[in-house]
Amino acid sequence: MAAFSAASAGAAVTVFDRNEKAGKKIYITGKGRCNFTNLCSAEDFQSRIVTNPRFLYSALHGLTPEDTVRFFEESGCPTKVERGNRAFPKSDHASDIIRALQERCVHAGVRFRFREGVRDILTEDGGDGAEKPRICGILTESGERIGADAVILATGGCSYPSTGSTGDGYRMAEALGHRTTPREPSLVPFLVEEAFCGELQGLTLKNVSLTMHAEGVKKPVFSGQGEMLFTHFGVSGPLVLSASAHYHKGMKAGLTLDLKPALSFEQLDARLIREFEEKRAKFFKNALDDLFPAKLIPVMVRLSGIPPMQRAGEIDKKSRQAFARLIGSVPMTVTGTRGFTEAVITRGGVDVRDIDPHTMASRCVDGLYFAGEVIDTDALTGGYNLQIAWSTGRLAGLSAAGQ
Ligand SMILES: Cc1cc2nc3c(=O)[nH]c(=O)nc-3n(C[C@H](O)[C@H](O)[C@H](O)COP(=O)(O)OP(=O)(O)OC[C@H]3O[C@@H](n4cnc5c(N)ncnc54)[C@H](O)[C@@H]3O)c2cc1C
Repeated sequence: MAAFSAASAGAAVTVFDRNEKAGKKIYITGKGRCNFTNLCSAEDFQSRIVTNPRFLYSALHGLTPEDTVRFFEESGCPTKVERGNRAFPKSDHASDIIRALQERCVHAGVRFRFREGVRDILTEDGGDGAEKPRICGILTESGERIGADAVILATGGCSYPSTGSTGDGYRMAEALGHRTTPREPSLVPFLVEEAFCGELQGLTLKNVSLTMHAEGVKKPVFSGQGEMLFTHFGVSGPLVLSASAHYHKGMKAGLTLDLKPALSFEQLDARLIREFEEKRAKFFKNALDDLFPAKLIPVMVRLSGIPPMQRAGEIDKKSRQAFARLIGSVPMTVTGTRGFTEAVITRGGVDVRDIDPHTMASRCVDGLYFAGEVIDTDALTGGYNLQIAWSTGRLAGLSAAGQ
């Protein structure tokens, strides 16, 4: 998007990518379907940006989610909107997004040099007593020096490094005097201490609610409702990824899972009274199949402390109410995350204090611009992160061409 915007504004643009083809990460977005933006209101969009929402105001105003949809429609990629305002290519193929973008680029005169990593960004003295150095080109990994009046650094984060985003951009930005904030995996599955997660591996729970608490913080740091998944190491799924956006390395965090968020404690207790009455002659462990999926029953029985062979009709009020409380708050202890190899996004990056939000220009080097995930900004799942990349890319491209 940065290259297309700069070329459309009249600049001669070359994209250097160490990958063998364009947009490798886009192929795996949205499980191969590419949730390329979100058509919620501007206020809602801002609220889904976890880090530095205000910095993105101009960029998102210049290219809104509606503009992005129009862009892809005009580029020969029909689109559709699904639950939660999430936009996808109509074909459900991320490759159509990449093809549309690349064709627009080629048409605008952008040249691509694949398998061409960039090692360094080259600068020279700004001249005439200028305070800042200025861009004069790049040095490729094969040792070639290429002259340029402007460089847009759009190297992504360091999540899923197999897609080419290995965090090089941070090193290059730091070498040119930019501050960076610490990088952490975000939108990432959690490792959980409790062994029952492994036992429940493969089980998906829909319409549950998850709350995350952090030691020393009174209010929950996250609370949400949706879908989650148990894995051999802990928990994953959309709800968990959203929670992870509020997790920091070293945080002592606990999760509480409400299996029946639609029911109040009183309603749940009444339901248990009914269930246990109807199945009064059955063992406790055999009286729960209308309440939970089969895989979850042995775990809930064990966590409850109620003897599995106790008759349902003989469970006393205290045990039943304790069980109702457990259903509303199954506790789990977070011990860490699955790290960058499985993180959808990188939190942290080039410090926004060193970037002009109206142009995406570096405040340290003339002729240098930033776009996308390399910047210290990140959002929740739902198409927001790609929209941030499109919007900052467009702004950086136009500014670089206009300088
Ligand atoms: C599994 C997964 C699913 C996702 N799903 C979604 C989704 O559905 N919706 C959404 O909005 N977001 C999604 N995201 C996030 C989204 O993909 C990123 O936020 C977005 O791709 C960032 O764009 P970018 O251009 O900044 O970086 P990237 O897409 O990472 O591109 C960076 C490019 O820079 C190149 N590069 C890096 N270093 C060098 C170097 N030294 N020399 C030359 N080239 C270099 C890389 O090869 C790469 O091609 C997902 C991410 C993952 C990992």
